[in-house]
Amino acid sequence: MENFSQKVLIVDDEKANRKILKELLQDEATIIFAKNGEQAVELARKHMPDLILLDVIMPDRSGFEVIEDIKNDKQTMNISVIFVTGLANSDDEERGFDLGGCDYIYKPFKANIVIARVMMHLELIKQRKMLNEIAHIDALTGISNRRKMDIVLTDELAANKRDKNKLAVALIDVDYFKPYNDNYGHGAGDAALKKIATSFREVLQRPRDFAARYGGEEFLIILPNSSIEGTELIISNIVQALADKEIKHEHSKASDLLTISIGAVLVGDEQATTPAEVLLQADKLLYQAKENGRNQLVINDFEI
Ligand SMILES: [Mg+2]
Repeated sequence: MENFSQKVLIVDDEKANRKILKELLQDEATIIFAKNGEQAVELARKHMPDLILLDVIMPDRSGFEVIEDIKNDKQTMNISVIFVTGLANSDDEERGFDLGGCDYIYKPFKANIVIARVMMHLELIKQRKMLNEIAHIDALTGISNRRKMDIVLTDELAANKRDKNKLAVALIDVDYFKPYNDNYGHGAGDAALKKIATSFREVLQRPRDFAARYGGEEFLIILPNSSIEGTELIISNIVQALADKEIKHEHSKASDLLTISIGAVLVGDEQATTPAEVLLQADKLLYQAKENGRNQLVINDFEI
């Protein structure tokens, strides 16, 4: 995982408090400020900080009201919140934890306690993010796994309703992969799957283009804002990128080289559908590609 600075949003109505917290934490994280509750919610959405230090007593809205907004918003609900308060009151403290706060820092600030608490939470947040990333990556090929695919496909189908163009979903199967493994060994089979994933990486350049390992030798590609022609071009570039790797396959009936079959479906913006329906149609088109002799693309519009 790349190394980047974590972001902390400091929310406090008193300038002196914001200044002290900034001085204590500016070497550990990128600091953003909000001076009231309204600004806090707005800046949390805009900057997506890793951690929020949230003052409890503020003139416009209390920290307890602010955290409810943050925890009720799907976008910001996972941001960690530490309450900052002068009240050493256990009822208040309990309420803060009930509302989803993860810790308390008390005023007047004790420098080493503030730093230790914040650093501990930033470290936990960093580790949680890393685990989350690992949980979404296919260990063999390094591209996304099926779990991540489920999330992306659901999100992209929702986004597709807002786009003018279509969403392309392509299911890809390696031709004669069993005879490949049987004859060249599983090590060679794994290496071939890695090279296929590399071909996807070489060709897919737009930020939302997505590739995942779907199962054993099956892959899935999602191309938002696409068309039949655009999808055909991308797929032919992938096929070419794979052919350039010249993976010899003497036990294939489709070619001398390792090849892929592809079933692709284009979902229009007006077509409300589920990931399962889209995958089912892509799978039928993939089946046709195999029936037609493999090493080819069968592409069609999604049919209601
Ligand atoms: Mg205050």
